[in-house]
Amino acid sequence: MNAPAAATHLLPEIQLRAVPEALLDALAARFGAQCSTAQAVREQHGRDEGSLKAPPPSAVVFAETAQDVADAVKLAARHDVPVIPYAAGSSLEGHLLAVQGGISIDVNRMNRVLSVDADDLTVTVQPGITRKQLNDAIKDTGLFFPIDPGADASIGGMCATRASGTNAVRYGTMRENVLALEVVTASGEIIRTGTRAKKSAAGYDLTRLMVGSEGTLGVITEVTVRLYPLPEAVSAAICSFPSIEAAVRTTIQTIQLGVPIARVELIDAHTVRMVNAHSKLGLREEPMLLMEFHGSPAGVKEQAELVQEIAAEFGGNAFEWATTPEERTRLWTARHNAYFAAVQSRPGCRAISTDTCVPISRLADCLLDSVTEADASGIPYFLVGHVGDGNFHFGYLIDPDSAEERLTAENLNHQLVARALRLGGTCTGEHGVGLHKMGFLLDETGAGAVDMMRAIKRALDPRNIMNPGKIFAM
Ligand SMILES: Cc1cc2nc3c(=O)[nH]c(=O)nc-3n(C[C@H](O)[C@H](O)[C@H](O)COP(=O)(O)OP(=O)(O)OC[C@H]3O[C@@H](n4cnc5c(N)ncnc54)[C@H](O)[C@@H]3O)c2cc1C
Repeated sequence: MNAPAAATHLLPEIQLRAVPEALLDALAARFGAQCSTAQAVREQHGRDEGSLKAPPPSAVVFAETAQDVADAVKLAARHDVPVIPYAAGSSLEGHLLAVQGGISIDVNRMNRVLSVDADDLTVTVQPGITRKQLNDAIKDTGLFFPIDPGADASIGGMCATRASGTNAVRYGTMRENVLALEVVTASGEIIRTGTRAKKSAAGYDLTRLMVGSEGTLGVITEVTVRLYPLPEAVSAAICSFPSIEAAVRTTIQTIQLGVPIARVELIDAHTVRMVNAHSKLGLREEPMLLMEFHGSPAGVKEQAELVQEIAAEFGGNAFEWATTPEERTRLWTARHNAYFAAVQSRPGCRAISTDTCVPISRLADCLLDSVTEADASGIPYFLVGHVGDGNFHFGYLIDPDSAEERLTAENLNHQLVARALRLGGTCTGEHGVGLHKMGFLLDETGAGAVDMMRAIKRALDPRNIMNPGKIFAM
């Protein structure tokens, strides 16, 4: 591991490539009303939920079929013009910014469930369907798809960023749950990776190469994912702690004892306050763990009792149970809205999010020093974490017009990443690299591994048209 350089990743490098009129004419001829060059549409497609900015793409194609995607990519390739896949737009690291110009391919209209194979616990969908739409569509099957980023992201976007969420501690991330893909390559060919079989030893694992490739290797046009039976019993509880350390130590011990907890989320006292104000809740304004247990009624009771004992050892207050499905939904919705609650707490601010993840035994070391640094900086922040996975997020709430606040926040992020890497962790547990973490990727993997990624990119996308300028520089 190399020592991270100073916080230099403050603004994206813009190197616009020409988008010839001939391409715009060809797109208009092929796609008609499915292609827009309207300023508002382009601007909406040229940003994400992060704080970085770049000029918008020159056109947006609203794809309805894999063939639409293939035709748009072929036309762009003919003119060496970048193509940026766009789904729910909820990414946080500058993933969607057209830093080299180009066209956006919006896959939101491709949002159908293609087949539910309940006996095999799999479903095949188009990429634009969101995680909530998917769970709604399969609700009568007794199955569910567990991966739940805070935003209602698309399944294709979640593949592209290798997303996870609150349930990953029990059910894994997109890496473990994607079985097969259909992909439009950089030359406009439509290929398939993987099958619906639970395992396969057939050649290079192209599915996992695509999962986490952030639109830089192809456009995903179909996805097969695993489903899970809805648990027989579910119970959710909150527990407040005298300190963040007590909550973190409870989590570490729970995981080390092998309790199959389904969700264990840390929310610090600042964030509880913001969530109370936003979601009209009356939670105690102390560090808290929000937990959920899945299994048989006896199994759930046993897990909950064990975690309650551990929490008590660290001074955790008695569990408060959310017994009805409505109460559970209310609590988890409030957790998922924590980001928006925090942003609303400082009108006009932008959040700079961190996303480090460390081995569970190092979680306290990584988190506590970072809290001390954040407190000392004077920048308002929120802190939430999928702590059962060793993953947590600070969101530094900066005034976007203040260069000083941005620099302070970037430096905090930088120190946090350096600490996580020293402790055997990663700069991004789930949000991906995008633009913002390109320098950190190099710090984490070293030049040799990034060179190997470049070699793969050159082989699969020799014109460098697929979402160029992301993950690493060519
Ligand atoms: C409030 C909030 C909470 C969040 N919480 C979490 C969390 O808990 N866990 C987590 O993992 N993330 C989280 N995120 C980040 C974000 O939701 C995820 O990164 C998500 O997976 C992005 O999906 P999307 O559909 O919005 O993709 P977009 O933002 O539209 O795109 C993301 C990237 O994927 C590429 N892409 C999109 N669709 C395709 C496709 N079909 N083929 C190829 N490439 C494609 C894009 O080019 C881009 O590089 C959160 C974001 C917000 C705003």
